[in-house]
Amino acid sequence: MSPGPPARASSTEAVSFSESQASRSAQQQVARAAELRKVHEGFAWFRSHARELEDLQLEVTSIAAPPWGEAARSAWLEARFSELALSDVHQDELGNVFGIRPGTDPNAPYIALSAHIDTVFPEGTTIEVRRDAGKLHGPGISDNSSGIVALLAIAGAMQAATLTAAAPVLFIGDVGEEGEGDLRGMRHVFQQPKWSASIASLVVLDGAGSDTIIAEGLGSRRYEVTVRGHGGHSWSDFGIANPIIALARIIDRFAGTPVPALPKTTYNIGMINGGTSVNSIPESATMKVDTRSASVEQLDRLESALHEAVDAITSDSTGRKKQELTAEVRIIGNRPAADLPVESQLLKAIRAVDAQLNNVARIQRASTDANVPLSLGREAIAIGAGGSGGGAHTIGEWYDPTGRDLGLKRILLLILALAGVSDE
Ligand SMILES: [Zn+2]
Repeated sequence: MSPGPPARASSTEAVSFSESQASRSAQQQVARAAELRKVHEGFAWFRSHARELEDLQLEVTSIAAPPWGEAARSAWLEARFSELALSDVHQDELGNVFGIRPGTDPNAPYIALSAHIDTVFPEGTTIEVRRDAGKLHGPGISDNSSGIVALLAIAGAMQAATLTAAAPVLFIGDVGEEGEGDLRGMRHVFQQPKWSASIASLVVLDGAGSDTIIAEGLGSRRYEVTVRGHGGHSWSDFGIANPIIALARIIDRFAGTPVPALPKTTYNIGMINGGTSVNSIPESATMKVDTRSASVEQLDRLESALHEAVDAITSDSTGRKKQELTAEVRIIGNRPAADLPVESQLLKAIRAVDAQLNNVARIQRASTDANVPLSLGREAIAIGAGGSGGGAHTIGEWYDPTGRDLGLKRILLLILALAGVSDE
């Protein structure tokens, strides 16, 4: 894909991060950045290091990073950040890893680029990585080893091409994005005034591809519902309340809740368990429920419906709590929903980058680390790390590096358009 016109021999004009220049069209800014000699050097670095990037991807995938068990991978990434001469390389108390490429403007806020380092695979999962007919295989190889590698590629290309932006670029490898990690790593970043007050935009790299812009956060809430009873013998205690039967009735009642097609709203009972043996009346039964919607009102409505179903089934006909049953509804996940405004600088910038690269991308809604800043009214998007992949969240996951180049150029141009860059 063409990065634009050939580089000028010498350019002294800077596209800088300042109010007066913020009004310059995003397209001009991107076109100007794409002309810079150093940017072309960065692009060339992506091509000449294609094999090294694949090796890094296999290496990081082989380091297990189950939810709440990312320490080894945090240490690995911290070492890579140090090799790339980023400044202030460190981990926080959760294992989020940070590194900064300083800018030329001491007053400019950070442009942050992040990739989650955790996987969905539980501790003890056998991890086998391999390269086969040009493709890379292994659990987590795309989601999110491709994002981690893109983070390193951007830092590597900027270092090799001595590309210094006006604003400092903050590189973040964050923990706890997947499943019940519930975005804990990125939440923590935005709970620290040190970062929260100084990050202007966050670009999240999550999974392969170059054809999507996730600018709309998908909200989700997850619950664990537990029904408890006395328990007993299936024959001699027959007739006492049975938590599994009660839970089944709760599920049946809740699953009758109507949901709108727009805004798309969904629910799922993903796990149930309980009981000890076929001839015991169980002492407890538990289920895990996932609800999703772009609309907070719809999530509230489903939450009310869940409580209503629990109350109705565990109360008697007069509305009093049944003596023999207790129920508990615990929130085990709460991802906020919010959208990036259409007029935001970030959306204009990624659109301009895609136009520059002749890349076609669709706006999508998903639940990613970008949900955290979006819910705080801050600018964030999630995009892919280039190449293509499949089998996400399965042991058979794969990544095809064909076209990674385009994805990396897209990320670099976006970061430079946001951070401002000159060829000096
Ligand atoms: Zn992911």
